[in-house]
Amino acid sequence: MVRRLRDRNRATVEHLSRDALDVRELKRLGLLKHRAMSLETGFRWPSIDRIISERFWLVLENWGRGTVQQIRVSWTRCHLGGWRPWMHCPSCGKRVAKLLKGLGGYLCRSCIGDPLYACQAKSTYGRIHFELCKIRLQLGGMASPTEPFPERPPRMRRKTYERLKARAFELEMELPAKRRKKPVDYPNLVYYLT
Ligand SMILES: [Zn+2]
Repeated sequence: MVRRLRDRNRATVEHLSRDALDVRELKRLGLLKHRAMSLETGFRWPSIDRIISERFWLVLENWGRGTVQQIRVSWTRCHLGGWRPWMHCPSCGKRVAKLLKGLGGYLCRSCIGDPLYACQAKSTYGRIHFELCKIRLQLGGMASPTEPFPERPPRMRRKTYERLKARAFELEMELPAKRRKKPVDYPNLVYYLT
């Protein structure tokens, strides 16, 4: 029987997202204004030293590697008024909210080679375990299914809590007891903590 081998070293979307450029975050940081602005990025994006921007473009500078990358920015009108920014992938031109960091600089998800989401890169039980951990973290509890199930967070709607809890129990039923003790995949789960 021929089986597809999972590449365990393949970077997941979650992994790549830590260094990702999110256009909403850039706007929040005060970039993308009508006049030219510059931002020293510090530790937030280790591979970028400075971002220079104006309303319709961004320039990423990396002095260490002597690279400069230019990214086009466009705006669309929101339903509730106001405008929201988009970046255009420097390779294919596609309009996206996030660019991921690859070896050749920042590109859209498909130009970077369509990395998988962590759950897609896992076995069936791995996927169940991952989703279960994710729900538990969303509820502010301990990720591991061996820990007690979290209470409803004070600011969460009762209906939302009941739905997530029902889903978690459904997943738990599918997970053999032995698999519950599997180590928690924190490197990929941090992506879902906001
Ligand atoms: Zn692209």
